Amino acid sequence: MKTMRAAQLKEPGKALELVEVPIPRPGKGEILLKVKAAGICSSDLHYQDGRSQVTKLPITLGHEVAGEVVECGEEVSGLTPGDRVCIFYLVTCGSCMACCTGNDNYCSEAKMLGKNIDGGFAEYLVIPARNAFAFPESIPFAQAALLTDAVATPFHAFNRAGIKTGDSVLIIGIGGLGIHAVQIAKIMGAGKVIAMDLSQEKLELALKVGATAALNPQKDHVEKRIKELTGNGVDLAIELIGLPVTIRQAIDCTGLGGRTVIVGICPEEISLNPYYDLLLNERTILGSADQSRIDFPTIIELAAQGRLDLSHSVTHQLPLDQVNRGLEMLKSKEENLVRLVVTFP
Ligand SMILES: [Zn+2]
Ligand SMILES: [Zn+2]
Repeated sequence: MKTMRAAQLKEPGKALELVEVPIPRPGKGEILLKVKAAGICSSDLHYQDGRSQVTKLPITLGHEVAGEVVECGEEVSGLTPGDRVCIFYLVTCGSCMACCTGNDNYCSEAKMLGKNIDGGFAEYLVIPARNAFAFPESIPFAQAALLTDAVATPFHAFNRAGIKTGDSVLIIGIGGLGIHAVQIAKIMGAGKVIAMDLSQEKLELALKVGATAALNPQKDHVEKRIKELTGNGVDLAIELIGLPVTIRQAIDCTGLGGRTVIVGICPEEISLNPYYDLLLNERTILGSADQSRIDFPTIIELAAQGRLDLSHSVTHQLPLDQVNRGLEMLKSKEENLVRLVVTFP
């Protein structure tokens, strides 16, 4: 039996272990992928430290995956060995009402790569063919891996929020998702795009990729500056950090009829005054989780056309045996880190 290397979580709170496991075989409707790149996401850190729960142990982490098709199982059409594909990370039933209406992330049978089933911190991965989306050679594997989450998640969130031409947008948190949120907001027709972060370097990056203004809450009076920039408050605030204080800030920065989309994972409670926070200004607060298969063709096309600039997104590439160092770097919030990607030869 042929084996491969995989980085597995055996116990939350412990480092991932590099193990040799059998290379899985593709069944009906599945493909075998030679993994070329797998992004390290904050969620991986949360699974590793136990803040978010994985549902099987040991488990191979990694849900932002791109690679090359090496084998197709029976009844796979539209893909052939050699194709470069990136992976929609929810393995769904494919036939329920949610799956059939483009809301795959609502599928009650959805299993997430690297959380419920083995993921991409491994040399090979078996995945249903319907989860794989081909992309052209002009997109490097490491950047394609980011499309699956760091790009797809904010893309989905803006669609959830019903972004309209000319909307002023506040983006809270310019990390792996935020740098793409800035660009997606512009592509989707936003007017002013205001970036907020504590890191001056991240804010400069946001300006470089198209933000109209950058605010640092340690230096700027955020709400005052938002009023100066927009008059009323922003039409749309997207919260990508997941802290009660930044969620509160997002809501407070929206104007009349403003929408707040919560994308950052915050398991704590926040307090709201329904009259002042919602009714009086007709504000809306929405949640946005993951993404859907239907988001993929568009984001791949945007990247292929160069309208999405991913050249600043992959700041670090590491081999699989250094995945724990990558998680440490993410944990210590290294200054110039946007997205870390595990890459394979
Ligand atoms: Zn992620
Ligand atoms: Zn389903």
